[in-house]
Amino acid sequence: MITNRALTHDLIEITLQSAEDADFLPGQFAMVSLDGPFGGSGHHERAYSMSNLANSDGIWQFQVKRVPDGAVSGRVTELSVGSTIHLDGPYGHAHLKDTTRDIVCVAGGSGLAPMVSVARGLAARGDAAERRLDFIYGVRTTRDRCVEEFVTEVAGSVMRTRLIEVLSAADEAWDGLRGYVHEALARYSPGELAERDIYVAGPPMMTDAVVRTLVLEWQIPVDQIHYDRFF
Ligand SMILES: Cc1cc2nc3c(=O)[nH]c(=O)nc-3n(C[C@H](O)[C@H](O)[C@H](O)COP(=O)(O)OP(=O)(O)OC[C@H]3O[C@@H](n4cnc5c(N)ncnc54)[C@H](O)[C@@H]3O)c2cc1C
Repeated sequence: MITNRALTHDLIEITLQSAEDADFLPGQFAMVSLDGPFGGSGHHERAYSMSNLANSDGIWQFQVKRVPDGAVSGRVTELSVGSTIHLDGPYGHAHLKDTTRDIVCVAGGSGLAPMVSVARGLAARGDAAERRLDFIYGVRTTRDRCVEEFVTEVAGSVMRTRLIEVLSAADEAWDGLRGYVHEALARYSPGELAERDIYVAGPPMMTDAVVRTLVLEWQIPVDQIHYDRFF
């Protein structure tokens, strides 16, 4: 690990450097282990999504949420610079697709990283200046907020960005949107999402609720909805 940075009180951005190229598509994940080669008994490995883009410098960036009593996230977020982490990958089907549709990224909590990678991937495209990016991010309270810097970063490259933050357990001081991520979809008018590619990442309950809402209420074709199930 070459750097770590706290994005919030429990979401830590870690940057690794490998000897080989960092070769993956925006939105994919890697299997991460602290204990050495993969597959042994009692072995602790977990999936973490890259938040950056492929590069020939071997740089892999992750955003890991510290889960209370979590066997791996607890250790990963406590690691110091210079530590060795084992990566296996990339994996995942919910990567940025090669279409000309505008994009909506929908993330909750620990699902931020792959959506940041998808947004960065869109911004790096030759046709970015003709593409709109909407970013919906749901967290619990104001101390979980951190998304703005990532949307600001890509805003100059795409035609238009729209950021919707929604908090499910905010205190009285929060004057923004309240509720769950799938409820934030009600901000759109009928038909507005029909021609978009929609990427979704986060805890299973959130992803299920968003996908259900998109398919049943918005009637978005399933081939325009992209997600890898967190487990
Ligand atoms: C495709 C994929 C991509 C993923 N990408 C990311 C990512 O970018 N960043 C990230 O932080 N995580 C990501 N995850 C989740 C990650 O793989 C681990 O599941 C998570 O870090 C918990 O592992 P742990 O060993 O710390 O907890 P465990 O020891 O496995 O679980 C401890 C307890 O915490 C509960 N728990 C597990 N996950 C959560 C959670 N997210 N919130 C609340 N409680 C939980 C468990 O049910 C259990 O009761 C991803 C998962 C998948 C499948």
